[in-house]
Amino acid sequence: MQRRPLIAGNWKMHLTQKEAVALAQSVAESSNACLDRDVMIAPSFTSLAAVCAAVQGARVLVGAQNIAWEKEGAFTGEISAPMLNDLGVAMAIIGHSERRHIFGEDNAMINRRLHGALQGRILPILCIGETLAEREAAKTLSVLEAQVRHGLAGVSGERMHQVVVAYEPVWAIGTGRTATKEQAQEAHAFVRQLLGEIFEKNIAMAVRILYGGSVKPDNIDDLMAQPDIDGALVGGAALKAESFDRIVRFQ
Ligand code: PEP
Repeated sequence: MQRRPLIAGNWKMHLTQKEAVALAQSVAESSNACLDRDVMIAPSFTSLAAVCAAVQGARVLVGAQNIAWEKEGAFTGEISAPMLNDLGVAMAIIGHSERRHIFGEDNAMINRRLHGALQGRILPILCIGETLAEREAAKTLSVLEAQVRHGLAGVSGERMHQVVVAYEPVWAIGTGRTATKEQAQEAHAFVRQLLGEIFEKNIAMAVRILYGGSVKPDNIDDLMAQPDIDGALVGGAALKAESFDRIVRFQ
């Protein structure tokens, strides 16, 4: 099955509004030149409005780096789907390893956030991935299985068409140490097979599974050549127009 590639940039806690708008304009140019793939950028919350305005009409999606499960209320520090809809935000990253490991978000909270996104017409990117200790203890597949099963609990097959999964081994994020294409493919194939067990095979075949973890211009082509890798979630290399442009133009 042909899945439309998605290249997503996670800008984390970087860039002022002015810097974010300049980078977004450059990404929009890259994206407009590549009609066969989707491109998404996730600025910090403070730059979302300015970036949405800057790329209006361009072929680039804007994402949030997290999302609340409630629509409104006493949830200090949280941002809800209606607030994101109001700006023109289309997607949200959920369960990023930094949220899991620095801020203690667990699978149950991540599942609530995912439902908040789906109910609020925001397309979720569910991030999963094992730590180095878990990989070395041969627990990679069981960790991924738990993250997928709990993260997607209660999601219908119909809704699953709106979900993107990102496999991001924690040991590869921001470390310069990329998973080999074989390690990434093995994990992606496992996740797709698992999705086939949880939902139906045709649904699993349609879900986009991104790889994330030190994706760079010099490894994107090899990664994208793997049969179950449908795109990339990019951190550090998404902060430079030139390197992200090369990643968007993967061959
Ligand atoms: C990320 O933040 O999701 C990520 C993969 O970061 P980096 O590309 O810097 O490893």
